[in-house]
Amino acid sequence: SKNAGRNCFHVYSPELKAEADQRNVLEIELREAIWREEIELFYQPVIELGTGRVKSVEALARWHHGTRGYVPPAEFIAVAEAGGLIVELGHQVLARACRDAMNMPGDIKVAVNLSALQFASANLVDTVTFALTQSGLPQTRLELEITESVFLADTKENLRTLQRLKALGVSIALDDFGVGYSSLSYLTAFPFDKVKIDKSFIDRIDRCETVAVLKSIVQLAKTLKLSIVAEGVESSEQVRRLQSLGIPLGQGFHFSKPVPLTELSWQAPTARRK
Ligand code: C2E
Ligand code: CA
Ligand code: CA
Ligand code: CA
Repeated sequence: SKNAGRNCFHVYSPELKAEADQRNVLEIELREAIWREEIELFYQPVIELGTGRVKSVEALARWHHGTRGYVPPAEFIAVAEAGGLIVELGHQVLARACRDAMNMPGDIKVAVNLSALQFASANLVDTVTFALTQSGLPQTRLELEITESVFLADTKENLRTLQRLKALGVSIALDDFGVGYSSLSYLTAFPFDKVKIDKSFIDRIDRCETVAVLKSIVQLAKTLKLSIVAEGVESSEQVRRLQSLGIPLGQGFHFSKPVPLTELSWQAPTARRK
């Protein structure tokens, strides 16, 4: 019957139903928020550790909900993916980030996160092209961040998409590097420009096992001519260790939380003397 699919929801409980209802409400509200272009972008700088200079900024979506306050992207990106809204949302994020970047210094790149579903969507390359031409942003100033989860799907098609994006002249970063199972094989199989080492490694940077792993990542990145960023840097001790490992770039609360465009500061916070 028509309802057979819905009735497949075997494990039924009031709690689950309440949770499902809440999700539906969130999805409806998100749909409206996207339609009204109410999703904001915050930006978090990526710092050159040696100089303290901002090299790029990462766009991070923020939904300022009328009654719930800021709904974290970890919550609404999943809702957007489940409800098929991610393509439209991704479109807006790309367009806004490129426009915002036109108001940043000309040597600053802007990085935009792409979800797995967005990456697999047929119109991604057109969306990126459109965002660039509409804003006038030079393609070399746009970076796209993707995680390994993108490659769980058909890898031949993904390789083609990556190559088409690279042909546009944008750069590609592998995000959350090291948390997946096959990160190393993806690094060699796909034409990335940058790796972003996951925060979990930076949290454990005082352990010698972590140092050993980071050393081999640095070595591999050198061989593959990839740039490396450490994510989730929270202390000057971590900065010191990253520098001694030869990791040139860092991002994290130690430097700045994600902030609205108007609060970004381009000066090195404190000129670090050697
Ligand atoms: P991500 O791409 O790995 O982004 C880094 C996350 O770590 C951000 O969380 C950032 O605020 C947080 N972070 C940065 N530095 C530190 C630090 O020093 N300490 C700690 N504890 N956290 C730090 P956020 O903004 O909540 O975003 C979470 C995830 O949501 C992102 O992870 C990304 O996967 C996704 N996301 C955010 N915006 C977008 C978007 O526009 N499109 C898509 N597809 N995904 C997005
Ligand atoms: Ca990211
Ligand atoms: Ca990340
Ligand atoms: Ca992440």
